Amino acid sequence: MARNQQPPFQRLGAPSNFPALSSSLMCLTCKQRPGIMLLLPCSHLAVCDQCARTTETCPRCTRPVMCIVRTVIL
Ligand SMILES: [Zn+2]
Ligand SMILES: [Zn+2]
Repeated sequence: MARNQQPPFQRLGAPSNFPALSSSLMCLTCKQRPGIMLLLPCSHLAVCDQCARTTETCPRCTRPVMCIVRTVIL
C-alpha cells in the first residue's frame, strides 16, 4: 500500500482550532497564527492580528503597508 499523498497541514503542526488552514495562510512573520490581516494596497493576506501592529512593509512583497483590514475566515 503506497501512500504518496498527505495533508499538507499535518506535518506543520497547525493549531487544532484551525484544522483546515493551509500553510499559505499562516502569518509570515511569526508562523504561529493564521495570517488573516489584509494588507493594502498590495492586498496580501500575510500577517496575523498580533504582527499587524508592528508591520510596516508586507512580508510577502515588501511593499509599504498603507492600511490593514481584518478578515474573518471561520
Ligand atoms: Zn504573526
Ligand atoms: Zn504584499
